[in-house]
Amino acid sequence: MRTHDFLSQNSYLNGLKCQKFAWEYKHARDNFPKLEKATASLFDYGHMIGDKAQELYTNGILACENEMPFSDYLIHCKELLEKRVPIFELGLMFKNLYAQSDILNPVGDDQWDLIEVKSGRAIADVNYHDVAFQRYVYLNAGININRCFIMHVIPGSKAGQNCNAKDIFQLVDVTDKLPAYSAIVEDSICQLLETWKQDKSPNICPGKQCSKPYKCRLYDICNKKDKEVKVTVLGSGSKGNSIVIESAKSAIMIDAGFDAPEILSKLASAQIAKNKISSLFITHEHSDHIKGAKELSENLSIPVYLHNNVFTKSKWVNLDAAQVSLFRQWDKIDVADFIVTPIPVLHDTIAPVGYIVECKSSGEKISIVTDAGFLQEPAIKAMKNSDIIMLESNHDIKTLHNSQRPDFLKDRIAGYKGHLSNNQCGYVLSQIVGKRTSEIILLHRSEDCNTEELAANYANNVLKKLGRCDINLQVAKQYEPISI
Ligand code: SF4
Ligand SMILES: [Zn+2]
Ligand SMILES: [Zn+2]
Repeated sequence: MRTHDFLSQNSYLNGLKCQKFAWEYKHARDNFPKLEKATASLFDYGHMIGDKAQELYTNGILACENEMPFSDYLIHCKELLEKRVPIFELGLMFKNLYAQSDILNPVGDDQWDLIEVKSGRAIADVNYHDVAFQRYVYLNAGININRCFIMHVIPGSKAGQNCNAKDIFQLVDVTDKLPAYSAIVEDSICQLLETWKQDKSPNICPGKQCSKPYKCRLYDICNKKDKEVKVTVLGSGSKGNSIVIESAKSAIMIDAGFDAPEILSKLASAQIAKNKISSLFITHEHSDHIKGAKELSENLSIPVYLHNNVFTKSKWVNLDAAQVSLFRQWDKIDVADFIVTPIPVLHDTIAPVGYIVECKSSGEKISIVTDAGFLQEPAIKAMKNSDIIMLESNHDIKTLHNSQRPDFLKDRIAGYKGHLSNNQCGYVLSQIVGKRTSEIILLHRSEDCNTEELAANYANNVLKKLGRCDINLQVAKQYEPISI
């Protein structure tokens, strides 16, 4: 039975608690973290208490014993009303509003008492709102409601599977308390419907609502501590690439595709202390990634990490054996505050890699992939759910084909050993963005076959489909540093 296309009492209560949660619940529920064990057992306990309360009404009937289509269930519920016996979990619609009461108990010839069962040992504000919404829907659906009750567990009683229902419940008439709660029902419904219409969730500051009456499922996402890792792209594109990843304690550089003096000046303008950089990692031997490596390594006295085959086989590498540290794909390289894992990518060089960088002190994971015509499944798997994703979005395929470039070059760029297009980048993002992901930087944008706007649009459309409008997306620039 599918009920969440309507505004149900759950949605209503979500909206009262937090409009952000209500929006996320409506539009991006599939991305929610799993229920924590403690919360799941609370819900199980609630169901057990609900079943227990039904034992008090021996002639009662359950409205929905078997799975049935929702429309059939609504007809069935209306028919049950004719029987004039206690009904459990009766669902009714009024316009696009849906309410389901725990117990509806007949009174006199045509009236009903509405009884809401709660597993708590006292009545909370949210319980009154719950009853007020149900009453509103029922009255408008033509049910003659007499009085409203909340049945809660008696403090100090032992509520369990085998207890006697008569010993554990207290029935409280809350009818006279309801007017204040009923007064806001219509406005609250309108507000929620407006929120649902928005194309992203409202910006709500975390507060008491995040942990009371229970911890919100989005708590860890909304209350995320400030990131420790800072990423600066000194420049990205066919004229040079260099990225610095810093923790509080240390920093590493990925690629040195500008002359060393230019890199040093870019570091200074980005206010990065050059002595903090403990090592340089090379993705591949194209000049726009390795040009300044030798001189920078000498200047800063840092090792250059690169793939074993790139060092031994490439004629483009001018590094001395003394200044290199060689690795193979999937090695776990422990440097300063980071564990760096080179992952294979496809590109027209000897052994191109991307990197997964994990910060030891903060636990953050950063994935960096540029210059890749294609990514195989193991690399995609390794990049999944990174806190920060840095991924190539090189060209717009149509603009590339319409460009003045010679055909062999077009084929090379678009080929599986070339560069990721906006489209391909979008596909990879759709596979790897996870609940931890908070930042994305698009890399290596072609200056004449792409625009910042096009690249960002492709990626943003993917994020929209994933319901992840909260992720901060930037496009790296060729000539000026950007930081997150
Ligand atoms: S954690 Fe707090 S701010 Fe975030 S959705 Fe939940 S209640 Fe709203
Ligand atoms: Zn390049
Ligand atoms: Zn390249």
